[in-house]
Amino acid sequence: MLHKLLLLGAVLLAPVLPAAAQTSAAPDPSRITLVIHGGAGTITRQNMTPEKEKAYTEALNQALQTGYAVLKRGGTSLDAVEATVRFMEDSPLFNAGKGAVFTHDGRNELDAAIMDGQTLKAGAVAGITVVRNPITAARTVMEKSEHVMLMGPGAEQFAREKGLDLVDPSYFRTEARYQQLQKALAAEKGAVPDQLNTPTQKPAAPAPAKSKVKLKAGKPGSYAEPPIFTEGRKYGTVGAVALDQYGNLAAATSTGGMTNKRYGRVGDAPIIGAGTYADNQTCAVSCTGWGEYFIRSTVARDIAARMEYGHAPLAAAAQATLDKVAKLGGDGGLIGLDRQGNFTMPFNSEGMYRGYIKADGQTQVLIYK
Ligand code: ASP
Repeated sequence: MLHKLLLLGAVLLAPVLPAAAQTSAAPDPSRITLVIHGGAGTITRQNMTPEKEKAYTEALNQALQTGYAVLKRGGTSLDAVEATVRFMEDSPLFNAGKGAVFTHDGRNELDAAIMDGQTLKAGAVAGITVVRNPITAARTVMEKSEHVMLMGPGAEQFAREKGLDLVDPSYFRTEARYQQLQKALAAEKGAVPDQLNTPTQKPAAPAPAKSKVKLKAGKPGSYAEPPIFTEGRKYGTVGAVALDQYGNLAAATSTGGMTNKRYGRVGDAPIIGAGTYADNQTCAVSCTGWGEYFIRSTVARDIAARMEYGHAPLAAAAQATLDKVAKLGGDGGLIGLDRQGNFTMPFNSEGMYRGYIKADGQTQVLIYK
């Protein structure tokens, strides 16, 4: 009887619910899928040691197992992506949480976003320095505020009021990332800090005579690379997309941004529709790469839009959008997942830390092309 009443209620309510909210399906544990990335960039066999490769492979596997355990016991995709990203934030290997890259001023400023594909609710934080797990701060913004994005001291005050785990800013520091900043600062010295010339612009002015750093001359359709960002381009941002047994998608991304960033720079990761997006009707996406290009190409939403309006399949949509990024001169990669459990992990950099786990526990972790 109760069952019939619930069914009647659902039928009566269906026409008034927003499209995305109608899409929860009957539980089916065989559809659970989790896909992750640990950043794209200049990751090649040549600049990898066996120890480093082992450490990354293990960490990626553990991240997958963390989220899989949540999905397996009937947890939601939101819970799974948050748990997975938290694990990666706590690992010093990735550019998120502990192990984040340094700003020009020698600080760690963190960005993160999360999105629920069932409700299209989203939460994000930018430029925070004392919250141990920025992804949890993003989720708290989504669930416990009426806003989508909070930044800087305000976001930190919010996190404090909500009782999140706070740390001293020095918690995020690792020596490897600090050395990356020193290299970037050295490269920057004497070079023209020109920014992001688009193909339609002339190449940047040549560096002053005494500079040892040469800007890449802008080939037609290319760009001159500003050395403030290009030294050691291993982006290392982390992200996860998941499909739970209820048929709901979620996406999460967390990052320290790019080495040597300044002026309160915010990348694509916390921007809904750029680095992070999820909609049950189309897909869940998390990006990594040169954020400015991903923002300008509204990458995550562009993929969803190709699926929504053009009915493109996920992999084709993702590749077409990434090609747009490349055309502008940007590099990086992304992970995408649809409601049928199809997923894609394209990138146009040398490598991308990535992996997936399916319902039966079948797992794969990849690093290179
Ligand atoms: N996309 C990030 C940003 O631009 C960097 C990364 O992927 O590591 O902030």
